[in-house]
Amino acid sequence: MASQVTFIGAGNMASAIFGGMIEAGYPATAITATARRRETLEPLEARYGINVSTDNDAAVANADVVVLSVKPQLMREVCERLRDVVQARRPLIVSVAAGLNAETLDEWLGGGLAVVRCMPNTPSLVGAGASGLYANARVSEQQRRLATSLLEPVGLVEWVDNETLIEAVTAVSGSGPAYFFLIFEALEEAGKRLGLPADSARRLALQTGFGAARMAQQSEFEPAQLRRNVMSPGGTTERAVHCLEDGGLRELFAEATEACAARAREMA
Ligand code: NAP
Repeated sequence: MASQVTFIGAGNMASAIFGGMIEAGYPATAITATARRRETLEPLEARYGINVSTDNDAAVANADVVVLSVKPQLMREVCERLRDVVQARRPLIVSVAAGLNAETLDEWLGGGLAVVRCMPNTPSLVGAGASGLYANARVSEQQRRLATSLLEPVGLVEWVDNETLIEAVTAVSGSGPAYFFLIFEALEEAGKRLGLPADSARRLALQTGFGAARMAQQSEFEPAQLRRNVMSPGGTTERAVHCLEDGGLRELFAEATEACAARAREMA
């Protein structure tokens, strides 16, 4: 029988995850989502056929997994109110909240719990996410597999064995979509400067990013080799790539991700 999974908070991230689970065949009847307002829940109930509730305690009472998916600033209050029912039931806790570590969540929930901390990213909303997961010492192998199976339908799942690496995950994939959006903006702008109509420049830039990612994922070669393959000596691509390298692109990425990880540490 499928594990009972309760989402506390039924916003963008939660609905992306349970939507993905259902598409992958998870029974909607084994999923419950909670929110403060009925208006949030009614369309989700109608669209997905999941159970919904405005009562967090009741929704957790029979849960095997509780996915904490409210905004980080609300998490302490939500967890402290759930403490008694969570301690009575002791479900696996999965948090998708940015910046809150497993120990803090465990403490707010009364302690001694199996906690998985997940750093997802926004492409999860279109089924192409990348999530970094960390499990505290109380999470069993079976619970790890369960957490993987819940997150995999919305994208790649990468486990890290040290919680501090979640900051690196934040710097690479958590915040990463914004880096690529910036590159798309810059490439579109550059295409327009070279005379392309704006909509053509945008479509070409986006499709090129998508195609390069897909090719790199499917190829037996690493990205550096794929790049060299399109850089014929003395050719057009070589000249453009040298320009980017000479302009310090690699150093900029190193600096940007350092700054991101440092900010994640400050916020923890
Ligand atoms: P969101 O769309 O604002 O959704 C938050 C949900 O929490 C709403 O359904 C809200 O219900 C519900 N809620 C608030 N207080 C509650 C309470 N006391 N009990 C039950 N439900 C309550 O937020 P989001 O973007 O999905 O983010 C959720 C979490 O995902 C955050 O911790 C965030 O750090 C993490 N995350 C999000 C993204 C992303 O791309 N969105 C990426 C990485 C991590 P009402 O609608 O009734 O107010």
